[in-house]
This record gives sequence, C-alpha cells and structure tokens, in this order.
Amino acid sequence: MFRIGCHISSAGGYLAMAKRAEALGANTFAFFTRNPRGGSAKPIEETDIAVFHAECARAGIDRLVAHAPYTLNPCAAKANVAEFARMAFSDDLQRMEHTPGQFYNFHPGSHVGQGIDAGIEKIAALLNEVLFPDMTTTVLLETMAGKGTEVGRSFEELACIIEGVAAKCPELSDKLGVCLDTCHVSDAGYDIIHDLDGVLDEFDRVVGIDRLHAVHINDSKNPCGAHKDRHECIGKGYLGSEEFGGGMQVMQNIVSNGRLRALPFILETPNELAGYAAEIKLLRSLQQ
Ligand code: FE
Ligand code: FE
Ligand code: ZN
Repeated sequence: MFRIGCHISSAGGYLAMAKRAEALGANTFAFFTRNPRGGSAKPIEETDIAVFHAECARAGIDRLVAHAPYTLNPCAAKANVAEFARMAFSDDLQRMEHTPGQFYNFHPGSHVGQGIDAGIEKIAALLNEVLFPDMTTTVLLETMAGKGTEVGRSFEELACIIEGVAAKCPELSDKLGVCLDTCHVSDAGYDIIHDLDGVLDEFDRVVGIDRLHAVHINDSKNPCGAHKDRHECIGKGYLGSEEFGGGMQVMQNIVSNGRLRALPFILETPNELAGYAAEIKLLRSLQQ
C-alpha cells in the first residue's frame, strides 16, 4: 500500500485530524503535538482517541508521523530553552502512547555556537533522559538542510547521535529511527536528483537502512548543497522542475524506490488544502 499524506492541522482533536486527512485523499498524516511556536499542549480526551482509532481503521490510516514543535531545541545553550525541550519531549512521548506504535519526528536541534560535538552530546543525553524502555513510539531524527548551526546535516551526525544513545543504553537506541526530508537532504548536499540509490547506499552504510521509517516529500526552492531549507511545491523547485535540472521523473523515482516505497510519505509543501489534495493525487499517479 502506498502511504501518502501531508501535514494536518490538529485543531479540534484527533478525530477531526483523521477526517481532514481522509478528505484530502491521504492515508497517513503528520501533525504538531503542540503549538509549533509555543509550548502549550491540549489534554488528550480518551473518547476522542477511541473514535479516532475506529475512524483510522475504517479509512485505512495506519501510520502517524507526529512532529515536535520547532521551538524544541534538544541542544540549546540557554537553561530555560533546554528545560522546555526536556519537558515537551518527555510529555509528548507520554501523549504518543495514546496512539501506540507510531512515529514522533523531531529536529535534532541547533548547537548555537557550542560546536557540533557538544551539540551531538547534548542531544544524545536528552534522548537518554526522555526515552523509556516500554515505550511503543519510534522517535525519528529528521535529516536537516544544514542552515545556521543545525545538527543533523549529514548522515554521520545522525549516526553519532544514535551511537551516543546506544553507548549509554543500547535498549533505548532501538527506539530511534530517521525521517528523510527530500528538501533537506538535497539542500544538505546529497544528490538525490542524479543518484538517489547512491545516497540511500550511503545512508545504509552510515546509519543503516533499517532505521529509515518515514519520508518528508518536498521540493526545494534551492539547488543541491544550498543549506537553505525553503520548501517548494512538488514540481516547482529544483527537484521536480525541468527548468531547474530536475523533473517529475525525480519525484517518481523517490516514491517508487524499493527502499522507500513502503514508508509513509508526508508532504510539507507551501500549499492550501486543495494544493495538498492535488499533490497527493499526483504522487499516487506517479508511483510504479
Ligand atoms: Fe521537520
Ligand atoms: Fe521536514
Ligand atoms: Zn524544512
């Protein structure tokens, strides 16, 4: 089954999200666990969760890729920012257990001048603190574009974080995986236009392909290696538009690739709802 969806507003709760996703033709989706800019999280209502599960079963939605708030920086330098990251991450992982066995995706963070090694060390330490042995969620580190002092701009940096967790507690590192963002990896310098399989071989060598659990499928406003992180609609940017050296064939290769095709694909393109519905339809038609 091809799983394709997009980022969905969490307004109105879980059942409302499932219905919104279905209306767009999606059978998977992403959502923010709390206000992406601030910190508040609405309490989860058991009755909402119950009807949500029934609706998902009916609609064939079996993968959720929750997204941590942007303000969550696991390697912050300031004490209050670090404390928010610890609190929000930990609380989110408790909340995720209401929807067992799903994915929680986060940005590894920005080291804000502390240096990459310190950043990686802090991220691993935070994960060791918030992950717990009987959790059912898989926590996904997102591949980053490498703007500013972002950590996670290379597969090596992601592998170092995972190894840092494993060094202290191998059991907890089993809870970790990766979400590959097509805009971000291209911006980071990985040439998925001309050599997707080579990039995935490298991922396998450095991180291990078994860790790859989800794809954010976005076009990019900038060329490979630009380190910008500006998402574009499918077919309008450097990956999907022939004008910039890419093309629909690139998108087709991504959704059809043997190592990716079974994963949930999530759109985070600059779209209104109708645009998402059209891109979902387009990508469905492209998968071979
Ligand atoms: Fe993200
Ligand atoms: Fe993303
Ligand atoms: Zn992005």
